[in-house]
Amino acid sequence: MAEGTFACAVNCMDGRTQEPVNAYLKQKLGVDYVDEITEPGPIKLLSENTDPRVESIKIRCDISLGKHNAVALAVVGHHDCAGDPVGKDVQLQQIAQAIKVLRSWYPDIPIYGLWVDDSWSVNEVAADEPQ
Ligand SMILES: [Zn+2]
Repeated sequence: MAEGTFACAVNCMDGRTQEPVNAYLKQKLGVDYVDEITEPGPIKLLSENTDPRVESIKIRCDISLGKHNAVALAVVGHHDCAGDPVGKDVQLQQIAQAIKVLRSWYPDIPIYGLWVDDSWSVNEVAADEPQ
């Protein structure tokens, strides 16, 4: 088992989002590390749940949760996303749907929806606790 405590973030590959999301989750959850699973516009991929990359995201989440005992999962959308060039309103709907997909995989872990704004600040837009 890896030393230290972990959270897992399904984040955009956009380099502007990763440091703010890491810092936010370390602060919020008190974890030592954040495993970053990155794709362009992952909330689009997860909410549509048709692209083959979704299975790759799941394989990587399984490793973070199974091998690192990640204590929570986050899924991230952001302003000015090249992989998901839609407005905030649509992204918030995608985040909600992405959480449903993640919840179907992982019934027992808190899942947070995060939205990174045009000043690269992290906003928590959903908090889905296990039943
Ligand atoms: Zn992006």
